[in-house]
Amino acid sequence: MPSHDEDRLGNSIFKRASQVIPGGVNSPVRAFASVGREPIVAERAEGAYLWDSDGRRYIDYIQSWGASIFGHAHPPVAEAIAAAATRGTSFGLLTEAEVRLAELLCDAVPSLDEVRLVSSGTEATMSAVRLARGFTGRDLIVKFDGCYHGHSDALLAAAGSGVATLGISGSAGVPAGAVSSTVVLPYNDIDAVDEIFVRHGSEIAAVIVEPVAANMGLVPPEPGFLSRLRAVTNAHEALLIFDEVITGFRMALGGAQAYYSVAPDLTTLGKVIGGGLPLAAFGGRAEIMECLAPSGDVYQAGTLSGNPVATAASLAVLGDLSAETYQMLEGRVELLAAGLANALEGTGLEFTVQQEGTLAGIFFLNEPVRNYEDAKRADSAMYSRFFGEMLSRGVLLAPSPFEAIFVSLAHGRDEIERTCDIAAAAASTT
Ligand SMILES: *Cc1c(COP(=O)(O)O)cnc(C)c1O
Repeated sequence: MPSHDEDRLGNSIFKRASQVIPGGVNSPVRAFASVGREPIVAERAEGAYLWDSDGRRYIDYIQSWGASIFGHAHPPVAEAIAAAATRGTSFGLLTEAEVRLAELLCDAVPSLDEVRLVSSGTEATMSAVRLARGFTGRDLIVKFDGCYHGHSDALLAAAGSGVATLGISGSAGVPAGAVSSTVVLPYNDIDAVDEIFVRHGSEIAAVIVEPVAANMGLVPPEPGFLSRLRAVTNAHEALLIFDEVITGFRMALGGAQAYYSVAPDLTTLGKVIGGGLPLAAFGGRAEIMECLAPSGDVYQAGTLSGNPVATAASLAVLGDLSAETYQMLEGRVELLAAGLANALEGTGLEFTVQQEGTLAGIFFLNEPVRNYEDAKRADSAMYSRFFGEMLSRGVLLAPSPFEAIFVSLAHGRDEIERTCDIAAAAASTT
């Protein structure tokens, strides 16, 4: 970075932030700590581009962590938000727009008979887990190491790969009891799943999984992994929860479950469906969803659930998506994945570009990554250097080696080709 770095406005904003916000940020990864530098401060964004508080422009591959599928400030979304705001920002009462959104979600995602709207992915997954436990009358939840399902207590268990490692909390402040019913297994390891079901099948309420893991870099499911999860949960009358907070309306209109033709019992949605506003959802089979209050005895609620401004944004996003949208997006992601691989080829760097449909990721490791153990063996210092070289040339990647690359529909051929040229230059100095 240039030596006049000290004078950047961003630095002084971050200094002020650090006085009044823990770590200077409202969500940990924004601190850029894992790439060993101070964060950039966002000023505004449009389409594929984001400008920081020092007026520098970046081609943005964070895109609000995948929330902006059309790119930033998509005009129909911005207009819908403005119009909704003038009609009242929150009522705490049922609205017709929420019904339209629920109908749209149930039409697009075949496994959804009913949905409930919430305000964050964390709320969606936390509620889906409570519902699964309430419906089955069982306590155990099976999750996979390296899959992120938000920051509720029961789902923060992460440590301890290997069969039947009963949950060890991944955060201070989570009581042992909160994760003692969470079993953590390696992603893509169906034998480990079979084994836990042989031993504890009748106690397992649900298996929760990211159908494409996108919170440890990008790790696709191996062929058959998701359908085997479906078969084993069916055999033991446990529920299968697809956490589609990233993949929902990003892989396809029907999400990863349509992409792979595997139907879960419960689905969580977020990010894309909020169009950049706080809106998420969970849903599934009617007999399960009807266990929620006020129909049933599983309690779940929210003052801002189905918020009219967020609902308007969501309707605007979903209304513009079609099968062609995903074909176009997938083509651009393919172009980027191939271009990045091409740019890094012959530089002597060890790397793997992984792509699955509309999602991609890069690991500095010279072999395929199929689970979190593999992902952790990638060279994170190399990622930090590459990230810095890309940033100084105007490309904003996620400030962490364990994140996916989010391409939006506003990333045209031009932006992607420029990104690949910059990657070649960055790799040659990394
Ligand atoms: C982002 C994410 C969440 C949490 O969503 P928030 O809106 O950040 O609470 C849950 N699951 C997955 C797969 C995610 O990527």
